[in-house]
Amino acid sequence: MEDCIFCKLANGEIPTEMVYQDGLCACFRDAAPQAPVHLLLVPKVHIQSLNQLDVQESELMGHMMLKIKDIAAKEGLENGYRVVINTGADGGQTVPHLHMHILGKRSLQWPPG
Ligand code: AMP
Repeated sequence: MEDCIFCKLANGEIPTEMVYQDGLCACFRDAAPQAPVHLLLVPKVHIQSLNQLDVQESELMGHMMLKIKDIAAKEGLENGYRVVINTGADGGQTVPHLHMHILGKRSLQWPPG
C-alpha cells in the first residue's frame, strides 16, 4: 500500500536496522521501545490487521510464527518474551499494517493496561 509506513520499512523504501528479513516478512526495532528488546515482525505484503486475514495467508502467518523463536534466540531472549498483536481501536492498534510485537529482556506484567 502506497502510504503505509510499515510497507515502506519492510520493503526497504525507508531505511531501518533489519533484525531479520526474508521474501515474506521483515523484523525491525520499534521506534518507541517498551522493553529493552522491542521488535516488530511484519508481513511484506500489506494486510491491515488480523481481521483482514484470509485462508490464503495461512502459510505466511505460519511462516512468521515459526520465525519468532529464531529471532528471539538471536536477540538473547532465552529467559522468555511476549508476542502481541494489537488489533483495531480497542486493541490499541495505531499502525494499520498487521504486526507482531516481540518484547523481552525485562519481566513483563500481566494483565496489560
Ligand atoms: P500498535 O500500537 O500495536 O499499532 O504498534 C505500532 C508500533 O509501531 C508502536 O509500538 C510504535 O512505536 C511503532 N512505530 C511507529 N512508527 C514506527 C517507525 N517508523 N519505525 C519503527 N516503529 C514504529
